[in-house]
Amino acid sequence: MTDAVIYARVSSKEQSEGYSIDAQLRLLRDYADENEFDVVQEFLEVETARKTGRVLFQEMLGFLKDSPECAVLVEKTDRLYRNIKDWVTVDELEIDIHFVKEGMIIGPAAKSSDKFFHGIRVLMAKNYCENLSEEARKGLTEKIRQGGWCHKAPFGYRNVKGPESAEPVPEEAEVMQWMYERMARGDVSVKEMYRQYKEGGFSAYIPLSKVYLKLRDPFYKGMMKWKGDIYQGNHLPIVDDETWETVQAILDINGRQPKRQVTDDFLYRGLITCGHCGCSIVPEKKKGRYIYYHCSEKRGSCKENGWLREEVLTEQFINYLRTFVLDDVTHARLVDTIRQQHQLLAGEVDESVTSLNQRSSKIRNKRNKIYQDKLDGNIKDYYWREQHARLSAELRGINSQLRKIDNTDLQFYILAEQILDLCKQAPELFERGNSEMKNQLLKLVVRTSTLSSGTLINSGLEPFSLLQKGSKKTMVGEERFELSASCSQSRRANRTAPLPDAS
Ligand SMILES: [Zn+2]
Repeated sequence: MTDAVIYARVSSKEQSEGYSIDAQLRLLRDYADENEFDVVQEFLEVETARKTGRVLFQEMLGFLKDSPECAVLVEKTDRLYRNIKDWVTVDELEIDIHFVKEGMIIGPAAKSSDKFFHGIRVLMAKNYCENLSEEARKGLTEKIRQGGWCHKAPFGYRNVKGPESAEPVPEEAEVMQWMYERMARGDVSVKEMYRQYKEGGFSAYIPLSKVYLKLRDPFYKGMMKWKGDIYQGNHLPIVDDETWETVQAILDINGRQPKRQVTDDFLYRGLITCGHCGCSIVPEKKKGRYIYYHCSEKRGSCKENGWLREEVLTEQFINYLRTFVLDDVTHARLVDTIRQQHQLLAGEVDESVTSLNQRSSKIRNKRNKIYQDKLDGNIKDYYWREQHARLSAELRGINSQLRKIDNTDLQFYILAEQILDLCKQAPELFERGNSEMKNQLLKLVVRTSTLSSGTLINSGLEPFSLLQKGSKKTMVGEERFELSASCSQSRRANRTAPLPDAS
């Protein structure tokens, strides 16, 4: 038997929505049994808005440092990592992590294609819980602290009195829900989506100029952005977390409305470390316009004492990004594999949607029929009332299931394809893009960058590094790019079980 620890996490908001830590725990314990793991410790993290940091996550890291042979069992990517930093920290431990629901095992021996897909999941899960930081609550009014909104409600909502402070306006909420879901499919630009919305016959109107900001507003997933920070709101969300996050990732990749604004002209501030002494490489302006980078020499005089023009570094970064450009054949092959997987999953999701829709129309017909019976005087009024209420409740249940159908996997393959495209365009985007674009690209792709004798030595972040030429871990070489059989099997096993018949 191999040792393993279980890590489960739930936020207080998720708990209030009925998403329990017990469900995760059951899944993980069952998995441990089936796969003959000896669970040596369980780390169950319940996050509240008041508590900061992840105490048990840190504890687990400490535990794993002393037990390198121990595996980690966790439900999904977004349970384990909240940001790229978490991921890098865990990755450096070089342990096996079983993402049970995603059917993936990531560790030193993992297949590079699995690592690639895993990397994409991490990208999707980033910013997952940025709202819980200590700083976020500083300078907070009591109202915001208690989840109330004290400004004008955004399109889709109206202000109301009481603790929830805003409620959805059905016609407007419908528009926002549609827009998020349309964008989340990942195959249209905001402009194209807006064109379709105008043709869609919606009764509520929103100008295009406002749509970008609305797609970035966490208000729609039940959070509140206030003074640059994000808080838990009491109002009803219009879109679920995953849809919202997916749309953010898609907008990020499309390069629209970048999250972080670059405040000065120094492109590479904070990005590069000195290969000789480990200090940071800092920018300095000379004669008011030439930008040079050099070792800060914070730890005393350093051998890496040359001053490099910013243009020289830019040239080196472009060359680095070129290593991510795949030849056409490889690129086409990867896109093909991703599409095949995507279609397979899309088919499965379609099936369950169809069966739910069939049940829904059955119930609707029944409801109409008993209404007719009532009008015809065949049944008593109270009986009709009772039946009508029962059938309506059933319909509501089906609709909520339809909403819940997890199409993350679908969005995920779309994102995978976009990442391949991004790699293809990266050098060109970098060369032509403004400083925001440059900065964003490097933050997305580069894990560390070290300057040694005037030459940059970069290491890439997954999933990008896996696409890189000349890297040993790359999947572009001999290794065939396909998901392991175990992966798709467990994926299938996790699909929603068939529903009991309504009749
Ligand atoms: Zn140095």
